Amino acid sequence: MTFSFDTTYKELDSVLYSRVTPKSIAHPEIVVRNDELCADLGLDTAKLDAKLLAGQDRLEEPIAQAYAGHQYGSFTVLGDGRAMILGEHVHDGSRYDIQLKGSGRTPYSGRGDGNATVSSMLREYLYSYAMRNLHVKTSRSLAVVETDDVVNRRRTEPGAVLVRVMNSHIRYGTFQYVAARASDELQQFTDYVIDRHYPQLHKKDRTYVEFFDAVMQSAIEMVVDWLRVGFVHGVMNTDNMSIDGETFDYGPCAFMNYYDEEAVFSSIDKHGRYAFGNQRPILRWNLERLVEALQPLCARTALTYDELERKLDEFDDRFDAQYYTMMRKKLGITSDDEDALVDEFLEWLRKSNADYTNTFLELEVPGTFDYPAFATTEFEQLRDDLAAVGLNEALMQQANPRYIPRNYLVEEALDEYLETGALSKFERLLTVLENPYTPKDIDSQFQQPPPREFDTEYTTYC
Ligand code: AMP
Ligand code: MG
Ligand code: MG
Repeated sequence: MTFSFDTTYKELDSVLYSRVTPKSIAHPEIVVRNDELCADLGLDTAKLDAKLLAGQDRLEEPIAQAYAGHQYGSFTVLGDGRAMILGEHVHDGSRYDIQLKGSGRTPYSGRGDGNATVSSMLREYLYSYAMRNLHVKTSRSLAVVETDDVVNRRRTEPGAVLVRVMNSHIRYGTFQYVAARASDELQQFTDYVIDRHYPQLHKKDRTYVEFFDAVMQSAIEMVVDWLRVGFVHGVMNTDNMSIDGETFDYGPCAFMNYYDEEAVFSSIDKHGRYAFGNQRPILRWNLERLVEALQPLCARTALTYDELERKLDEFDDRFDAQYYTMMRKKLGITSDDEDALVDEFLEWLRKSNADYTNTFLELEVPGTFDYPAFATTEFEQLRDDLAAVGLNEALMQQANPRYIPRNYLVEEALDEYLETGALSKFERLLTVLENPYTPKDIDSQFQQPPPREFDTEYTTYC
């Protein structure tokens, strides 16, 4: 089977999207395809050729979505400037947006060229694959297809189209757009989103408060998972926050090696707005913007602004509860207290600046890594204290990945492809990241952090 499309988004008010045509590509070529995802979507790989994947054989008319967003704190009206939804694929009772990224200009492109480079699309493919296998809710990548274009960014590269799969691409910014541009449509739009993502809520009395509650919960779970694996999203603008709590828009993201709450890698995030340790306050700030966008509902329904604000006030306690539960698992603590010990551990992490991922592996099996920070009496004392109440192996193995995409290995893999056209390093990484919780008999390089100088100088781009 190929895609089985039924696009409900087009039934919404036309202010929400534009009908678009993907750019024509004479010789599209598949660089990578995720056959496991094909199977999950009930798709027959034999029928998913490069032309179909690159939007050259269309089953219906694609759309670009309109949205707004706070970018680095400033409100902007945006929209898919280089992305197009081919359709909503329905399989086994689930609905998925099939979106192309890098498929050419749209009415929302502004001065942008609508294109994407092959290295940035391969990067997104790899990170989304890793995040999925790390058990973080995320968009998935079906394929990267190279185009005939040459795209000029930091370097000149072939262009590519990424085929991205999400439950939907609806963002906090979509609500901000509707509130700003078509507030009469907000109730109908919100009902649509509830039907699509939170259908059980239609049975509740306080549907819209419950909706906000569910969005907040899914977002807290998502960001706590980022903190669990050391992920720095890099561009938590409200247009990059999915309403269903799916991690997406893998642009300037990176995995932190040496623990540092100020870790920031994005070339444009000069003030560290989206630094590792800022992801929690920024999530709250983004949820505040969502509450503001829901305000027009208060005039039309029984919802009150006060109710939404009270719900938002639960954020800190709920985030903390989720965070400490997660940290206890990482430390193998089976009880639901010991917050003070968790804090003591975090203090040690901050001071030692040790490799985040490997610290938990060392706690589990002492002597795994030969790092000076692990040979200190302070660390040994901490380990003894933890052993008294935690270090439960089964818990730790579920929460602590053995492998993460080490930034320098990702760059080496992308360079290899650009320089020689070979994917051997890229494919090795995919293999390692297929089961990142399972110890493998492989080159220990995959567990090694880069030299500290590399890490402090490492820069990512949108
Ligand atoms: P992002 O930072 O990836 O979330 O993108 C922010 C906005 O810029 C989105 O509306 C994108 O569609 C748009 N955009 C990014 N790159 C391009 C491009 N090359 N051409 C057109 N629009 C773009
Ligand atoms: Mg974006
Ligand atoms: Mg992006």
